[in-house]
Amino acid sequence: MARKFTFMLIPHRGGDTKQTMLSLWQLLLTAAAAALLAALVISSLIYSGYLRLETRGLNARLEREAVLARQRLEASQQSYADLTSENEALEEELESWQREVTQLQTQAAMALDALEELEMREAEIYSVLGMKNAVGGEGEPVTVTYGDTAEIFAYITARANDAIEGLSEEETSYAIEYVLDNIPDGWPLKESGEVTSEFGTRINPITHSGYEKHSGIDIAAGHREHILAAGAGTVIFTGENDVYGNFLRIDHGNGYVSQYGHCDSIIAKKGDKVNKGEAIAYAGNTGRSTGTHLDFRVSYEGEYIDPLALLKS
Ligand SMILES: [Zn+2]
Repeated sequence: MARKFTFMLIPHRGGDTKQTMLSLWQLLLTAAAAALLAALVISSLIYSGYLRLETRGLNARLEREAVLARQRLEASQQSYADLTSENEALEEELESWQREVTQLQTQAAMALDALEELEMREAEIYSVLGMKNAVGGEGEPVTVTYGDTAEIFAYITARANDAIEGLSEEETSYAIEYVLDNIPDGWPLKESGEVTSEFGTRINPITHSGYEKHSGIDIAAGHREHILAAGAGTVIFTGENDVYGNFLRIDHGNGYVSQYGHCDSIIAKKGDKVNKGEAIAYAGNTGRSTGTHLDFRVSYEGEYIDPLALLKS
């Protein structure tokens, strides 16, 4: 068992020859050490190769992640840009709306100014006509000191003309339609009959003795001749009594009421809206009357006025 092996190292030229003697177990040990070393080297080589591969894989993955991240970033930048431009568009739209609103507000203010001026003119017309505001407000009735209604109406007409002069065509037609057309100044019969009795104090037509106050005018008329509304308005009464016979009343608004007496029969009904010149009854001889005629009366604010003052103007 004591086998020994000798290893010699002989240089090619010169030098000393080296030799070493190893026992069998020493030789086996050396061989085992060499094998272990080789195994270590090989495994480390394999491991480093594996690591390289692993690193390459990781790098590739990181690159992919980076690409995706960049894509996401670009996408979000794009959507941000989109949102920004959308926002700008919305802001522009909002601004244009605001401009429109401002313009509308300006127009509304102008319209209100115009309306206010129109209302002032309307009030002026009503005021010079001595009427209360037909729209419903309590206007100031003009206090007139003249005694004669004809003079009053001439004065009122002149003032009204002055007021109307400053109006536009539209305002004028409004005034005519809603104010002037209602005044009972139209001839109340189809034909131009003779005025047989004027407004004021007169001799009693029945007894022919003594004086009485006549609150209207008598106009000669043909039997069943058309009686016409002296102005536009609403029929507020139709009926009969001993004095006027068959008679009716029209409210013209603004304080004016007209009355038509001694009718043969009445055409209009209570509550009817009638136009100026519309046929409302037939002339006759009913009530306290001495012949076929129309007893025509006009009151203003409850006081009888001379209808001729209106009719003549
Ligand atoms: Zn009369």
